[in-house]
Amino acid sequence: MPDPTSLPTVEPPGFPGLPDAGVLQEMANAFFRALPGDAREVPPPPAMAGPGFAPPSVPVPPAATPVVPSVPVPVPFAILPLTPDVNPGSIADQNRSVAPSLYLTGFSASRPAFERKAIPALDRSLPNEAELKALLADRAPARGPVAPTGGGAMSSPTSEPYFLRPLPAPTSFPAAPTLPAGGRTALVPPAARPAAGAGFDPSVIRKDFPILTERVGGKPLVWLDNAATTQKPRAVIERLVWFYEHENSNIHRAAHTLAARATDAYEAAREDVRAFLNAGSSDEIVFVRGATEGINLVAETWGRANIGAGDEILITGLEHHANIVPWYRLAKAVGATLRVAPVDDKGDVIVEAFAGLLGPRTRLVSLTQVSNALGTVTPAALLVAMAHAAGAKVLVDGAQSVPHMPTDVRALDADWFVFSGHKVFGPTGIGALYGKKAILDAMPPYQGGGNMIADVTFEAISYQPPPSRFEAGTGNIADAVGLGAALTYLSSLGLAAVAAHEHALIEDCVRQLKTVSGVRIVGDPAERAGVVSFVIEGINTEEVGRRLAQDGIAVRAGHHCAQPVLRRFGLESTVRPSFAIYNTHDDVEALIGAIRRIRVGA
Ligand code: PLP
Repeated sequence: MPDPTSLPTVEPPGFPGLPDAGVLQEMANAFFRALPGDAREVPPPPAMAGPGFAPPSVPVPPAATPVVPSVPVPVPFAILPLTPDVNPGSIADQNRSVAPSLYLTGFSASRPAFERKAIPALDRSLPNEAELKALLADRAPARGPVAPTGGGAMSSPTSEPYFLRPLPAPTSFPAAPTLPAGGRTALVPPAARPAAGAGFDPSVIRKDFPILTERVGGKPLVWLDNAATTQKPRAVIERLVWFYEHENSNIHRAAHTLAARATDAYEAAREDVRAFLNAGSSDEIVFVRGATEGINLVAETWGRANIGAGDEILITGLEHHANIVPWYRLAKAVGATLRVAPVDDKGDVIVEAFAGLLGPRTRLVSLTQVSNALGTVTPAALLVAMAHAAGAKVLVDGAQSVPHMPTDVRALDADWFVFSGHKVFGPTGIGALYGKKAILDAMPPYQGGGNMIADVTFEAISYQPPPSRFEAGTGNIADAVGLGAALTYLSSLGLAAVAAHEHALIEDCVRQLKTVSGVRIVGDPAERAGVVSFVIEGINTEEVGRRLAQDGIAVRAGHHCAQPVLRRFGLESTVRPSFAIYNTHDDVEALIGAIRRIRVGA
């Protein structure tokens, strides 16, 4: 590498915007002039972006005659310095002799986080000039493939790299509501909804989801079962294929190249989850099977260690069974009491009642951010603040919120936050538990086995720090990588634009449902996301689901694993269309038309 002191310094202009191509060329040239014969160990790349983070100064040669004549720079991905780097983080801790990787390091316009793109396929040597040009243009170099890691792009012969699509403006996270002085309506300030971004076009997004062109029973598929699971974009499908074709290995424990690639990809996915949640550190991200496992993990570790006889656990009447059963079992096992904050006729948590149930014995509060049965958006930040004021720890179930709105666990201030990958365009069997570092540090292990130990004898065992402490055994490596790709894809669309688009669909759906006689919409919450629940007079919900399926329309009909809240409304089951980024007003029309036909035939 060049001696940084011998080179003048150029500040990349306008962080977090894009440096111009000339500066990039100079950086690339400086890098290539200084290439050593072999890759060698250099310090790890600069720290991740955060508040107050400034991009590093970039050394360039004094008189730059471009070696790389013209470098096309993808619009949303500004490539900053090239940083040769010996596998950092966990793999370096485990074994310094693993194969070196090279990273393109840069900023994404959609997310001012420092992103690294690994080029592990280059087999211990640095890329030559032609390969660098290909990499910067995001084509696979002739010598070998460019493996996407973290926020990188997927090159494939069949689809354009997904990050090359112009991105909407970066989104900002809404501030957490402050504790109210007075009445209930003041507790839930109407969310300022930005108009759907000009770059947000569901008809373009649909092309990213191959399954949406399926026909079922001769009819085009209308997928309105997103609250159960979402469809997967090509970026995720191809990322999984890429992993199995180029990276597959067990992680963390070997000195060979594929172990390095797989470990890099897995840890880069953890960083993607961190960035998506706006957590402070990737050590706060534990990969789990999904929201269910995340909640069980907290109940069985922190819960067992901190909740005892006479203590209280507070949940809300909106919860999914995944956020009821683990607490019920824990309470039974330790002699604690499970309390439930009631829900009003509109389907909102009654905040005054919630406040009244908080007390000196409340050790833990667990609540959903969005109800999967009614679509209610709870005032989660407010409830978290109230629980903290009462001295309780709080878990927020984000399974139904993360696909529909920006998430910021630091603004939310939850102690734990869980979500499932498959509900956010990622694979099944993978999800994440966020936990504040100090709390995770103090939690005992969940399961025992490989990966989670520091040292084992028959007499004594010491454990790894989080997150490894909670990831016993071989995890779902490929699907974690797929989840990273899903979050990168979703982030690229802009969560505020996603929220605005889906809000318009739901309003349309609710408005039209109200015009169909015999239809009863369940709940009318102050704010709704993702889901509408209804029943049709005189026709059971399973029959409605079956008749809609004959028209190619997939919705869920049943209790949605949320029996208590449906019983609150005197029901055992509802019909539940649920929306996502790729749904359109045509889907709403198809649904309403089919419901009208069912009514006429009833
Ligand atoms: N929490 C909520 C609100 C849900 O909607 C779901 C699933 O529908 C879960 C938790 C459980 O998610 P998973 O089955 O992916 O673990």
